[in-house]
Amino acid sequence: MKTIGLLGGMSWESTVPYYRLINEFVKERLGGLHSARLILHSVDFHDIQRLQKAGDWLAAGHLLGDAARSLEVAGADCVVICSNTMHKVAPAIEGAVNIPLLHIADPTADVIKAAGYAVVGLLGTKFTMEQDFYRDRLTAGHGLTVLTPSSADRDSVHRIIFEELCLGKVQPESRQTFQRIIHALAAQGAQAVILGCTEISMLISQNHTSIPLFDTTAIHALHAAAWALEPNESKAGDTLPLG
Ligand code: GLU
Repeated sequence: MKTIGLLGGMSWESTVPYYRLINEFVKERLGGLHSARLILHSVDFHDIQRLQKAGDWLAAGHLLGDAARSLEVAGADCVVICSNTMHKVAPAIEGAVNIPLLHIADPTADVIKAAGYAVVGLLGTKFTMEQDFYRDRLTAGHGLTVLTPSSADRDSVHRIIFEELCLGKVQPESRQTFQRIIHALAAQGAQAVILGCTEISMLISQNHTSIPLFDTTAIHALHAAAWALEPNESKAGDTLPLG
């Protein structure tokens, strides 16, 4: 079994399910008292959010690149960023280490395509919904068509993520807002919706809507766990098996 390196704390509320899901997968696959080999580097989200707000992605990339290097030095065989947004600095992190980065958008797109969908709605922070780094990976990289909510709805989703979910607050009114936005995306033509922020599954799950949902937290965590259990030893610089 390979050792998974988690870059967490963004927010810590969503790092907790990564730890649980990865260990549950390993337990189910290997049985008995097996659990995941895993190293967690959990950052202070206050620092990350300050850099996001200032648009200082260079500094954010340095900070997370250093954190990823510490995972590698400690023995991690891969890096898993427990945030969709911070994949914005994935190239800086990849440049800082000699172990592979398991990009959250790749298994997400693979699972969506395997389910037969081509047009998806995307919910996440404004960085994730509005900038190219994530959408391009899904569109140019994987051939999906990506729809996003209206500007006012993007503001609402972003606010609920940072002012509620990242602080552990789950409010029924916010769930209703998400349900409405998900249905608006479906009315625009989305066949399914990506929960493209690792906290959203705290608020909404498949039993809250008839529109198919794809939760990036679960998809990413289970992808990392399956990768760790693959029999072939991955070495630095290997290309990642996707799906
Ligand atoms: N965890 C979130 C995400 O998946 C948002 C927090 C952050 O900005 O990293 O995008």
